Amino acid sequence: MTRTAFVTDSTHVAHLSDGHPERPERLEAIIAQLEGRGLRERMVELAPREATDAELLRVHARSLLDAVASAAARSAWLDPDTYTRPESTGIARRAAGGLLVALEAVMRGEADNAFVAMRPPGHHATPTRPMGFCLYNNVAIAAATALEAGVERIAILDWDVHHGNGTQDAFERDSRVLYVSTHAAPFYPGTGELHDTGVGTTINIPLPHESGDAAFVAAYEQVALPALERHQPELILVSSGFDSHARDFLATLNVTTDGYNRVAQLAVDAAQRLCGGRIIASLEGGYDEHALAWCSSGLVEVLLGETPTPDPEPLDVGPGDAHERLIAEVRAIAGL
Ligand SMILES: [Zn+2]
Repeated sequence: MTRTAFVTDSTHVAHLSDGHPERPERLEAIIAQLEGRGLRERMVELAPREATDAELLRVHARSLLDAVASAAARSAWLDPDTYTRPESTGIARRAAGGLLVALEAVMRGEADNAFVAMRPPGHHATPTRPMGFCLYNNVAIAAATALEAGVERIAILDWDVHHGNGTQDAFERDSRVLYVSTHAAPFYPGTGELHDTGVGTTINIPLPHESGDAAFVAAYEQVALPALERHQPELILVSSGFDSHARDFLATLNVTTDGYNRVAQLAVDAAQRLCGGRIIASLEGGYDEHALAWCSSGLVEVLLGETPTPDPEPLDVGPGDAHERLIAEVRAIAGL
């Protein structure tokens, strides 16, 4: 039986700002779903801890740590999208540290894989700048920690609808880290262009708005999978944003719960083939509670080795746009 670790944090509720889409209800919807469907009790639950300065400094400059701490003390905004409160520093440190707890469990073989449901998200935080709702780059910190512990090759899959500019910044000059991102384009934060390949292990798949499931799944099947085969990672991390979903009110990529489930299955199967099943998915964005709930439970079912329960309220978003030319172009640029 697959042992799936689960890390979450009830203190996240104190990180909030009136009317902001990155709100506690996001995580509450996920927890309610995992409990309601009997999935939480079937995972190995691990308590989060705060990431230390030394761990955060594996990715971030000291100036970022100081900026976050001083903004939080004043409940200030770090950029027009990114709020803080006095509690935010500790909560964000637990989001980063929770992923490290999952990493430790998976690398020690105490868990086979993991789902980390924490907030705030991380993939827009660059080495020097918090931005886009993100204070610390949770996934990048986990990747840097694994590298420091001796892991030689890591892959990061990022299926959030936004490009993970912070993650790309952290690793675009490091051939040990394969970073594959699907994101809507043109869209916030404006990075992640097709030809932006770093030292050759950054693969950006900018999808037109309303692309739908066919393009999303094709991006993983025809680009991410062969890239993973070539990279031979020892560990796969997933920046698991659910805002590519058709219900999401911040974005319009039109992926359905079924599309997310299919991509989760591809990723977990790849981890089985390539790296002993070691895959850790960490929540990024996603702002519709129904989509968050059902994509998370589907992902957890896949991690547990089961068939995802279909979304009881599926959306008919049509076949989506033609994507063959784009996928062929990404493959050519990546040399796949
Ligand atoms: Zn996002």
